[in-house]
Amino acid sequence: MIEVRNLVKKYGTHTAVDHLDFKIEPGRIYGFLGPNGAGKSTTMNIMTGYLGATEGEVLIAGHDILKEPEEAKRHIGYLPEQPPLYMDMTVREYLRFAAELKGITREKREGEITEVEKMVRIQEVERRLIGNLSKGYRQRVGLAQAVLGFPEIIILDEPSVGLDPKQIIEIRELIRRLSKRHTVILSSHILAEVREVCDYILIISKGRLVASDTPENLEKKLGEHNVVEIETQADPSEIRLILKHVPGIERIETQATGEGVTRAAITEKKGEDIRERVFMAFAASKAPLLTLKTSGTTLEDVFMELTQSDKVPDAFAGKTKWEEVGNDAGNL
Ligand code: ADP
Ligand code: MG
Repeated sequence: MIEVRNLVKKYGTHTAVDHLDFKIEPGRIYGFLGPNGAGKSTTMNIMTGYLGATEGEVLIAGHDILKEPEEAKRHIGYLPEQPPLYMDMTVREYLRFAAELKGITREKREGEITEVEKMVRIQEVERRLIGNLSKGYRQRVGLAQAVLGFPEIIILDEPSVGLDPKQIIEIRELIRRLSKRHTVILSSHILAEVREVCDYILIISKGRLVASDTPENLEKKLGEHNVVEIETQADPSEIRLILKHVPGIERIETQATGEGVTRAAITEKKGEDIRERVFMAFAASKAPLLTLKTSGTTLEDVFMELTQSDKVPDAFAGKTKWEEVGNDAGNL
């Protein structure tokens, strides 16, 4: 439905979007997830034809957004980061204006506006000036504008920014309702939001796509190895010696804490449970463990790892601050 190929956007020497490639299939809620400055708005502005790309192309239902903008734009409704609202128009006037711009015929116009007003629940404020509305209502008016004409694809840039918790819940419900008839793409810098609303996540960092999958698969793919974390007074080379012949270990990473205590993250091979073996190995060496706990990888870890590393897009590499040591029982 949407195909983004090799998209690049440069501002001077700064690359805001760095060779993005992805496809959007119908009937899902997609989430662009990334920290501020990652390039989400730039990408959405290019996809919707508001901004030209430096390189690459965007096809909307087979139409190039630059070469056939009218054909392409017919399929999309867009709520930009700063909704293009006119403060001195009433809600109804503004929606009439938006409907006209979208080429909705006169006969259909009033009926459709009423339908959309009901959908986003702004009927009670339709005679009020937009300038006098709360942020939550303004956001819904912006949303109404995006939904008008019932385009197949609705693109929402940070739809819940600046809303209070109750309004956020309402907007999420609205997005879910929209997704029954439309393909929805939204952006957010908040993981919890994307995880809750979206069926498919594209994680963007420094203009690059660093991971894309369903929330479940992202967690599974990146979190299939459990990590056993230990603290001990043994130093890194002693730890390596103690664990040398312990089977089931994929990788050992160590970190000195500065108080004569070393912390080690021991990654298990898939399907192994090494806790007892690690405990016994340290006990046999008379090097007491101060702590031992296991942790799986959460989507939170994945997001932090993918977006904080400077080594993008070597996305699945270990945490850089850890020193990595080998283990003879493994294949490191
Ligand atoms: P996001 O929406 O993910 O927060 P943006 O797409 O707004 O990110 O910005 C991506 C990068 O491009 C940022 O580093 C931002 O400072 C830069 N940028 C965005 N718009 C402009 C512009 N008009 N001129 C120069 N740099 C820009
Ligand atoms: Mg943005």
